[in-house]
Parts: sequence; structure tokens; C-alpha cells
Amino acid sequence: MEANHSPSDPLRSNPFFQNTLSMLERVGSKVQINPNVLDTLKLPRRIITVSIPVRMDDNSQMIFTGHRVQHNQTLGPFKGGIRFHPQVDVGEVAALASLMTFKNSLLNLPLGGAKGGVSVDPAKLSMSEKERLTRRFTREIGPFIGHDKDIPAPDVGTDSQTMAWMMDTYSLDSGFSQTGVVTGKPIEVGGSKGRDAATGLGVVFTMEKALHVRGISLDKATLAIQGFGKVGMHAAIEADSLGIKVVAVSDVSCGIYNPEGLNVQKVVNYISENRSLKGYPEAAEITNEELLSLKVDVLAPCALESVITSENAADVQANIIVEGANGPLSHEADLILQENNVLVVPDILANGGGVVVSYFEWVQDIVWLFWEEHEVRSKLKQIMTQCFDKVWDFAQKEKSLDLRTAAMSVSLKRLEHAMKLRGQAW
Ligand code: NAD
Repeated sequence: MEANHSPSDPLRSNPFFQNTLSMLERVGSKVQINPNVLDTLKLPRRIITVSIPVRMDDNSQMIFTGHRVQHNQTLGPFKGGIRFHPQVDVGEVAALASLMTFKNSLLNLPLGGAKGGVSVDPAKLSMSEKERLTRRFTREIGPFIGHDKDIPAPDVGTDSQTMAWMMDTYSLDSGFSQTGVVTGKPIEVGGSKGRDAATGLGVVFTMEKALHVRGISLDKATLAIQGFGKVGMHAAIEADSLGIKVVAVSDVSCGIYNPEGLNVQKVVNYISENRSLKGYPEAAEITNEELLSLKVDVLAPCALESVITSENAADVQANIIVEGANGPLSHEADLILQENNVLVVPDILANGGGVVVSYFEWVQDIVWLFWEEHEVRSKLKQIMTQCFDKVWDFAQKEKSLDLRTAAMSVSLKRLEHAMKLRGQAW
């Protein structure tokens, strides 16, 4: 029987959660997934909401709200990032947690799906305020995480330093060093070589495959990237190194555009000095909205969800969209883009490189044996390209399905099989 939802349901009232739920229902009925499996996957297994009192530098107190949503653990321990952003709410975190379940299943990893978030603007906190917030949040969710239970990682607004504080707090509370409780840590404290760049690299590995099937050679391709954080910046660096011309990038402040191609290393240096792209000299300033409608071969949204909707999808002029961000397209946008023959490489495939190398890091922490960067990179490339081929072949076999439906189908079939074997569905 389907779960009950009231109109004030904090999950269903979030459009991103609603969009993810509709996608699950649509794909599930298209490829005939067992209805009990679908119903189980519609709601998270557990939602933990905590209030986090933090002593600010001026000795005042601020109380933040945080969530850890554990969606599904059929395939292994819960796994997913922690976001610090003012827009965080429980519906957004639940949508992201369910995408982690689908992504980990698609990538054939022995992991379930989870996500966490705190509603806060980290740019407004000092380093010590951020540390106190992170440590207190970790304490509050501490009983529910662990290397064999639930393993957080960085996401928007968090980084390797955040993970080092989480690992330290959890270890102090346990009485011994527990490096495997989080991934995305600095290398000195159990992190993996190649984790920082992994998501961006994975975006480019799948982009190469998409360019190939569209018959566009790398040295002729142009690329615009929205978001120049951990994902967007590393995607730009890797694409540039392959000869793809990066003509535009953006951050929250603005976009920058140079049709002759940006000097990516100069942009990286500029943002590390100025902490924003505003005022970058060798390009024209454009808006984030303008970046999305540039005439380029590839558009890679690598910032936040729901940036391409029915409002602006028809303005997209790119041949290919590679979803570095989670959930950047609404369903209505998907339909318009399919109509316009735009090839969309979906988030659960395109940005899976981060969790693949998080999985490598978790394995290395468990056995205390660490790999060289070239090993991480080649294993990552193998998994990403094989996964693209599997999704592409499924799409062709099923009479030219779009890649999102194909990727979700492959993922749901694995979950269905595992749930039946475990006796969770019948
Ligand atoms: P980040 O915080 O490192 O970078 C986010 C970037 O987006 C920054 O450049 C920021 O200025 C920009 N941005 C923020 N708000 C914006 C707005 N309203 N308009 C335009 N730009 C805006 O975050 P990240 O880790 O790079 O994550 C980006 C996306 O990729 C998210 O959707 C995240 O869930 C997804 N993702 C991240 C990872 C990872 O390993 N970090 C893995 C998989 C998916």
C-alpha cells in the first residue's frame, strides 16, 4: 500500500523532493519495478533532525538546524555528503539522500544512500565558528554514524577541513581514531589521493563519452560550467587539459565568458586570491542565467539543483548537458530538452566520481593500505566509462530511452533484486 502524505508534509512540499519522487514513479512503472520496492524507496528509512547551539565569536549564541536523512541501506552502509547552505531544508536533504541510493546502486557500490545538511551560510561564519558548528553537529548525529553504519562526505559549503573536524570529534567520543567514519578527509588523516578532484574528473570522463557519441572531437568542443567549486573547478581543469575549450564559468557572484577560451589556471589563481570570480580581467561578465543559454557544445551545471526548469529550458543551446550538480533539471525541463534533441547525462551517472573515490577511501581506511594517485584515477575512469556504456547500451536496447530513464532503470533493477534476496520485497 502506498504511504500516506498530508498536504503539509515537509518532504512533499519541497519541489526537488517532489521531482525526485515523480521520476521514481515514472521510471518504476515504465520498466515494471515491483510496487513494494517502489513504495519502500519513496520515503527515507530514517530522518534525524537536530538543533545545534553554537557559541559565536562575540560570545552570543546562535541555534542552527541540521538534518541527516538515511534513505536506504539495502546494498550496504548509508553514504552521502553533508551540505552547509542557507537553503537547506529536510525536503532538499531527503531528495539528495534518495539520489545517493540510486547513484550507489547504479555504480555497483556496496553502499546505501544518505545525505545531511545544516541551514547556514558558511561564508558568514569565522573559521572557529564553523569548527564549533561542525563538531556540535557531529556530536548530535554521532550515535547514527560510523564506518559500518553511515559515512558522511563533503558537499556544497563543506570541504576536507570539515571532514577532519568530524572525524576528530567522532574519534574523541569513541576513545580511538576512527578514520573510516567520513570520506573526503585530508590525505594526512586517512584521506585518499585523488578524492578532491574525483567528482570533476568523473564529470569529464562521462563528458568525453557523450561527445564521442555525438560525433564531436575534444579539440573542437566548447564548454560552459555553472559553479566553480569542488566539482566545477576540477571539471574545468580536466577538460582544459584534454583540449576542450572552456569558454565560460560562474560562481554565486557572476559568470565570466570569453569565446576564445578562458585561461583556466589563471581563473583558478584569481578565485583563490579573491574568493570570487567578480572582476576577473580577461573575460566579459555575464549572469548565471546567461551562461545557461550560451551556444556551446557542452553545458555542465555544477552548482545547485533546479536551475533549468520549464522557464528557461527552451533557451538552452548546448548539444549536451552533463549534470555535475545533483538535480539541476526539472522533469518539465527534461521533456523540453529531449524534444530539442539535447543529450542529457544524468546526475547519478555524471557526478558519481565523488562517491566512487569516497568508496576507495573507505576501503583504504579499513585495510590501512593506501593507493597511488594514478591507481585511483585509472580505477575511477574504468568504473565511470563502463557505467556510461552500460547505461548507453540499456537506452539503445530499450528503443532509445533517454539516459536518465536508462540510468534509473539499471539502478532500480539492482535494488529490486537485492531487496528480494534480502526478503525486503516480495
Ligand atoms: P561547492 O560549495 O564546492 O561549490 C558550489 C559552487 O556553486 C560555488 O562556485 C558557488 O559559488 C556556486 N553557487 C552556489 N550557489 C549558486 C547559485 N545560486 N548560482 C550559481 N552558482 C552558485 O560545492 P560542490 O561540492 O562543488 O557541489 C556542487 C554540486 O555538485 C552540488 O549539487 C553537489 O550536491 C554536487 N556534488 C558534489 C560532489 C562532491 O564530491 N563535492 C559529488 C557529487 C555531487
